[in-house]
Amino acid sequence: MSIESILQEVFGYQAFRGPQQAIIEHVTAGGDALVLMPTGGGKSLCYQIPAITRQQTGRGITVVISPLIALMHDQVGALHEAGVKAEFLNSTLSMQEATQVERRLLQGDITLLYAAPERVTTPRFLAQLDSLQERGLLSLFAIDEAHCVSQWGHDFRPEYRALTVLHERYASVPRIALTATADALTRADIIERLQLQDARLFISSFDRPNIRYTIVEKRDASQQLLRFIRDEHMGDAGVVYCQSRKKVEDTADLLCDHGIAALPYHAGLDAKVRQANQDRFLRTEDIVIVATIAFGMGIDKPDVRFVAHLDMPKNIEGYYQETGRAGRDGEPADAWMCYGLQDVVNQRRMIDESPAEEAFKQGLRGKLDALLGLAEATDCRRVRLLRYFDEASAPCGNCDNCLQAPDVWDATDAARKLLSTVYRVQQMSGFGFGAGHIVDILRGKTTEKVTQRGHEALSTFGIGADLSETEWRGVLRQLLAIGAVAVDAQAFNTLALTEVSRSVLKGEVPIRLRIAQPKPSARKTQRSTSRTSAPKAVATLDAEQQLRFAALKAWRANVAKEHNLPAYVIFHDATLMAIAQTAPQSLSDLQGISGLGVRKLEAYGEAVLTVMGEG
Ligand code: ADP
Ligand code: ZN
Repeated sequence: MSIESILQEVFGYQAFRGPQQAIIEHVTAGGDALVLMPTGGGKSLCYQIPAITRQQTGRGITVVISPLIALMHDQVGALHEAGVKAEFLNSTLSMQEATQVERRLLQGDITLLYAAPERVTTPRFLAQLDSLQERGLLSLFAIDEAHCVSQWGHDFRPEYRALTVLHERYASVPRIALTATADALTRADIIERLQLQDARLFISSFDRPNIRYTIVEKRDASQQLLRFIRDEHMGDAGVVYCQSRKKVEDTADLLCDHGIAALPYHAGLDAKVRQANQDRFLRTEDIVIVATIAFGMGIDKPDVRFVAHLDMPKNIEGYYQETGRAGRDGEPADAWMCYGLQDVVNQRRMIDESPAEEAFKQGLRGKLDALLGLAEATDCRRVRLLRYFDEASAPCGNCDNCLQAPDVWDATDAARKLLSTVYRVQQMSGFGFGAGHIVDILRGKTTEKVTQRGHEALSTFGIGADLSETEWRGVLRQLLAIGAVAVDAQAFNTLALTEVSRSVLKGEVPIRLRIAQPKPSARKTQRSTSRTSAPKAVATLDAEQQLRFAALKAWRANVAKEHNLPAYVIFHDATLMAIAQTAPQSLSDLQGISGLGVRKLEAYGEAVLTVMGEG
């Protein structure tokens, strides 16, 4: 069967997306590949279709290496729905089930076998692969989430390092490695660690045009989050990322108290609770999951309408990967982040205090700085994001800065006043002081500490009374972001000058700050009008179609429950909408609808027609 007919008949899709076809042809022919594609770009087909074609031509089994044990059941279930022989081997199987899978594996009676790297590299599993290889039944290795091999990636898994054994032991078996983490450093590391020097590199565009990026200044984060969800996403599925477990718990409670169905997810929860919460998120339409970064890899729920960050992530790769979990179905979605001075201080401190080597820390600082640059930006966020992944683009029209150009003020003078205060207190007292005290001096506040230290005698005392405390914090945050001031975590978070400070003090570096937050009312009308120009697809259905769509969804929910799978694994909303619009009378009317392959037509065609008839 040609790769086009597999795409159409097995998966029910009409055309390849982006570089899928080139990748699939290359891998089917036995070439190695490294695939960089954004989250939601369509990586799975890049190894699933070669696995099917190669199995059909007698080459045997594809082993898919994935770190996501908790999701293998659903991934394999989705392939079963499409009529593909797929299985997984992991600790969730009973002894008996595992033996059964191993038996079929050795017979070569599986097209795709999913397993975690820990298992793949055990002597037992390698012996089974040896046996397949001897009989010419080892077809392909697909290494998913390949950035896990890199310490530069944000999900480093030491077990991935042991995967070099695959290449060393089975040099003739092609490999395809896939990831959505694409910066140059991680990419080079993946190639070296997995010995993919000879693999062809396929890089897709990283743009996710349906995602709207918004970064707001942190005031009262929880209230800001509540307002964001209430104003724009009531009843939607979403993910809220927080730094700490405690904050995850507190935030989930807060949302629930305000009538938003929310569940916590972090590594400190019992494994059963974690899995149950994840399953409920995947199997329900309107749950908000509040999580640490432990959540999300491999989550393929298509209808996540927003991803919110209550704390700043460590770098742009992490941020982009996390936000990429919104809107996989291509419908409008939001990436919203709230960030403040404390985030900058915390992230810097975590790097400073980590036991890593200086060169490594330097790398981390560089990555953090790039993210700070994004957060402070007054121009298009998307242009900056894509540029980080070496992609040129024009202003997008779908980020906060494009939708409403921020008002900026020239803060160069203020920055100089702040830095010279930092310098003078250090001179006078012999040691540094924290942000709060520096701002007090600038604003001319005679606090106890100020009087005690004699700081009202400083020439900068009171020279910044025209700016509010928030404005001063904004100045400080930007100075931190560009490295013109440092926070010494070892000495009570005191501020210190850096090499960059000098050029700011001399007035050589212009500092332009956004004027603290646009008026909420102006902002809201702006957003809601632009929202209406991109309505949810379901709103385009007429009344009758809406009724049919609702009936189909109810039917799908039952099937999903029976099969113990998320509803979108049975049919995506888009497929149900297309059916609702077609109002099919016969099986042939259903043919060619996107997402309806031969197997699903056989399995569900009649039932769908019945639902339509009843409607
Ligand atoms: P990721 O790159 O994040 O692994 P997936 O492989 O999960 O992305 O694909 C994202 C979504 O796009 C899935 O719902 C998938 O079924 C769909 N998809 C992938 N390729 C195509 C295609 N050629 N045509 C239509 N839908 C596609
Ligand atoms: Zn933009």
